[in-house]
Amino acid sequence: MKKRKAVFLDRDGTLVVHEDYLSSPDQLKLLPNASRGIRLFQEHGYLVIVVTNQSGIARGFFDEEQLMLIHSKLKAMLKDEGVVIDDWYFCPHHSEGKIDYYRVDCDCRKPKPGMILAAARKYHIDLSQSLMIGDSESDMLAGKNAGCKTMLIKHNQSDDTCITSEIGIDYSVKNLLEAAKIFTLEA
Ligand SMILES: [Mg+2]
Ligand SMILES: [Zn+2]
Repeated sequence: MKKRKAVFLDRDGTLVVHEDYLSSPDQLKLLPNASRGIRLFQEHGYLVIVVTNQSGIARGFFDEEQLMLIHSKLKAMLKDEGVVIDDWYFCPHHSEGKIDYYRVDCDCRKPKPGMILAAARKYHIDLSQSLMIGDSESDMLAGKNAGCKTMLIKHNQSDDTCITSEIGIDYSVKNLLEAAKIFTLEA
């Protein structure tokens, strides 16, 4: 069976405007050109899969049911712009969480590659042909740890001050459309 290529997307700060522990559908705001970028990737044969850390669940700020409401609304917003994301993975854990059930040193919380590896098994993804896009160091590390190329979303010039150069970010862009243009032209 031929392996697929995929784009793994962080959610907060990459697909939607970052809010600390976003806990209500009302807080969702799509970032400019995100939908157009996703469409372009999919037109070029990429699966597009969201991988998001949601430790707000372990911390007791919101529960899985609330996260489902948030993702339902987000799916509807994307659908209005003609986009259907292929799959959604989230990590609800944190090693110092308040809720016992989620207080786990798991394998899925980025920078660990667990969510990416799980998706790769499910969809027969060739990780060396795939890309992790996000706005934080943990996204870049998760991508590297999974064997993907990495692309950093920089919202402004000073954004990379918290990211060490040793990570080896492969690309750095302003938004998902710019990301898709670079990668689909090169591919
Ligand atoms: Mg982020
Ligand atoms: Zn986890």
